[in-house]
Amino acid sequence: MLEVKLFNSYTNRKEVFKPEDPNAVKIYSCGPTVYNFNHIGNFRSYIFTDVLRRSLKLLGYKLDQTMNITDIEDKIIAESIKQKVTVEEFTSKWIKIFFEDLETLKIEKLEHYPKATDSVPEMMDLIDKLKEQNLIYEKEGSVYYSIANFKQYGKLSKIDIDGMKSGTRYETDEYTKDDLRDFVLWKSPKLEGEKFWETKYGKGRPGWHLECSAMIRKIYSSGIDIHTGGIDLLFPHHENEIAQTCGAYPHEHFVNLWMHCEHLLVDNQKMSKSLGNYYTLRDLIAKGYDPKAIRYLLLSAHYRTKLNFSLKSIDESTKAISKIQNTLTRVLEGVNFDLTQKNENGYSEAYYKDFLDAIADDLNTSKAVGTIFEFIKIINSKLDSNALSKDDIADLLSYFIKINGLLGILDFEKSKDDSLDSEIQSLIDKRQAAKKTKDFALADLIRNDLSEKGIILEDSTTGVKWKRK
Ligand code: AMP
Ligand code: ZN
Repeated sequence: MLEVKLFNSYTNRKEVFKPEDPNAVKIYSCGPTVYNFNHIGNFRSYIFTDVLRRSLKLLGYKLDQTMNITDIEDKIIAESIKQKVTVEEFTSKWIKIFFEDLETLKIEKLEHYPKATDSVPEMMDLIDKLKEQNLIYEKEGSVYYSIANFKQYGKLSKIDIDGMKSGTRYETDEYTKDDLRDFVLWKSPKLEGEKFWETKYGKGRPGWHLECSAMIRKIYSSGIDIHTGGIDLLFPHHENEIAQTCGAYPHEHFVNLWMHCEHLLVDNQKMSKSLGNYYTLRDLIAKGYDPKAIRYLLLSAHYRTKLNFSLKSIDESTKAISKIQNTLTRVLEGVNFDLTQKNENGYSEAYYKDFLDAIADDLNTSKAVGTIFEFIKIINSKLDSNALSKDDIADLLSYFIKINGLLGILDFEKSKDDSLDSEIQSLIDKRQAAKKTKDFALADLIRNDLSEKGIILEDSTTGVKWKRK
């Protein structure tokens, strides 16, 4: 198995990946709060999780992966009261939309999607354990975590915890705390008609941080290999998760590797609902953009670099995908035998090795897609000169199938689109007619149009021939 290195935000360096069990790698990713459409900034972090999953699979691991669904929270409560529906009715609509969007973006299904509302007993267990460790206090019906009593607080974020005490408020919460740094574990009801659970800590509902610690315990019993999230979750959310789990179970290991995805930006500012500088996936599809191009755009930038979003960058991705797809389509046209036939020792081997080396190096997707373009240049020139044998074609096909394990957007349908072919033929006929009448401007326009469709024209003794780029 290839050595895999991943960047650990806890130690701030790349580390050799050594999961407890390579046949069941335990990964937990913070998921959505379901009250609205997710914007494509959110999807950058979910695509990052998907890249991690698909890369580890290509590198030979089997996964046991979880993403939580936050289905109880201030905005959810306020909106469901406003719309006079139950929290479940309100969130089920948004959960369905979230899963539809994941599918549109070819994000693979994970093994577990626990909901916060299904994990309240495990949250109570956790609060019990924290109480035993003298890490909580109750005030006005709510339960708080007392950070002063947890000595390791701040190790992940490297935050100056003493500075925090006298400095700015870091979590806006209407609740009264003993210490500004403390965070709420269990919230007493505040609004008329608000959903609550009757528990030994009183009526209430969970604070946001508690669910992730409780779910990891519920699903994996103990520690996990990797925990992921967007970079904005590193503090305070992930710091608080550590405080909760390591505070409750001081002698157990929690997370081996913390991985965080950088933000999607617009004009150098984080894409966010509050700034209003966002597009939902559905906004972009309605404008005619192909979700495959959006997926490609979000995955082809390395997850630890900030990515500036623009509509132009989706156009560039569309072009990049058609370059790869066109070469694959040409390869498929050369296939006149069983598609399952494989040739593992062809000349794709070296390029696939470069591809795998890139993703094994902290998921360097931008380098990995670079290796694809290098290789398709060579494939195209071999196709141009008819220099490919049946074995070569089989080898190339298995290469495309493997890289699609990461890309997820290639089309392996062999059947040619006849309607497309006749459209191309009719454009070629029009161009021939234009040339006859010496309308060279029109002839050039048609040639450019065809070129944009990925079609190259070649004059031959038997007339004009065309092929895909
Ligand atoms: P939220 O709904 O704000 O809790 O965000 C859900 C997920 O999306 C979290 O993992 C965030 O870190 C992530 N996220 C939010 N905005 C962005 C952004 N502009 N770029 C990348 N990830 C983001
Ligand atoms: Zn979380």
